[in-house]
Amino acid sequence: MRLACFDDYRIGVVADDGVHDVTDAVDARWHGTPHAMTQLIAGFGELRPAVEAAAGKAPARALSEVRLLPPVPAPAHVFAAPLNYHAHVDEMTGSDMVGSSYVASSADQLGFFLKAPGSLVGASGAIELPDLPGRSFHHEAELGVVIGKPARDVDEADALSSVFGYTCLMDITLRNQPGKTQERVMRKSFETFTPLGPVLVTADEVGSPADLDLELWVGDELRQKASTRLMIASVARLIADTSRVLTLRPGDVYATGTPEGVGPIEPGDTVRLRIARVGELTMPVRARG
Ligand code: MN
Repeated sequence: MRLACFDDYRIGVVADDGVHDVTDAVDARWHGTPHAMTQLIAGFGELRPAVEAAAGKAPARALSEVRLLPPVPAPAHVFAAPLNYHAHVDEMTGSDMVGSSYVASSADQLGFFLKAPGSLVGASGAIELPDLPGRSFHHEAELGVVIGKPARDVDEADALSSVFGYTCLMDITLRNQPGKTQERVMRKSFETFTPLGPVLVTADEVGSPADLDLELWVGDELRQKASTRLMIASVARLIADTSRVLTLRPGDVYATGTPEGVGPIEPGDTVRLRIARVGELTMPVRARG
């Protein structure tokens, strides 16, 4: 099933003919709030029949006629894996954009960092770059994982059972520059620096997250091309390791790290991320107003 969040936090099932509004499957107290999708995810085991019935009855609206929000607009956490592909570790190591702490470190040793949930933006929005002369902003193409069940101290072998689904995620980043080191959490948490969507695809439709081809273009230029099988720490490993620190909650988002090929974006660019079996997310880039 492909789920979308749109307009005033309506929830939709996306089919070939468009989006079918199934908001009524969630308790009415959550309607119109960013928590409606979180409630749907948390209760999906029981709610799925009602969602499917509602999707069958609701008329289809063209996706182009709705305003697509992040499919999970209000996660409690947005976890992120640093340096989770060897070729990206290599391109960053020795770069003048990073400090010595990057050398020979990767996600399986470093653990996670957080991005502010307020940095999320949906497919109908734009990446907005602040006016910081001389600084560069980079795209990072990532598989986004959405948690479905609470995960605390889970084993790697069981970790994927806590996944609800997958979506496209861009981890937009203000790069450090020589002599100016700023906190990663801040550099990656500007508003609109976490594009997510356009839809959330349930795990049963995606299958294994360990062999998904992932490509990112800026305009017509292919910048990143890799497979999730090249991750250093697998999706299951990331969840298991994180669950030993705190409980991952339904609706939480996990940015699983980027492969090599990161590079600058500027106002006027269009960034397009495609992940096999998950979807395609296209975002315009503009100056922050
Ligand atoms: Mn990243």
